[in-house]
Amino acid sequence: MADCIFCKIINKEIPSTIVYEDETVMAFRDIKPVAPVHVLIVPKKHIPSVEALDRDNAGVLADIHLAAKKIAEKEGLSGKGFRLINNCGKDAGQTVFHLHYHLIGGRELGEKLI
Ligand code: 5GP
Ligand code: ZN
Repeated sequence: MADCIFCKIINKEIPSTIVYEDETVMAFRDIKPVAPVHVLIVPKKHIPSVEALDRDNAGVLADIHLAAKKIAEKEGLSGKGFRLINNCGKDAGQTVFHLHYHLIGGRELGEKLI
């Protein structure tokens, strides 16, 4: 999508530190990391949020999870633990409306949910 910042990152019009890429998924470091490892995993196809998922496009969620597993291994988090977070919509504080999952780890993460 034309004025989507993550589409621009995917198209390499905006620089980012890419840590993983395959046919359907890209992952790059968050510009404002909250932990030693903070990677954003996104579908290459523009999907605004979880609310825009349907039977036809939800297959990419499996790809995102498999990418998360590989990235966690590469970042040295295997066996230590990590968190995979999605913010959907206004009340959850979603700021970029291109579906993304935060992979966070590298320290003890504290409270589970708030
Ligand atoms: P949200 O709040 O929508 O769940 O997460 C959006 C995330 O994207 C934030 O953690 C923010 O730091 C990150 N972000 C926003 N703009 C950029 C950017 O241009 N490059 C990178 N690498 N991350 C960004
Ligand atoms: Zn997009």
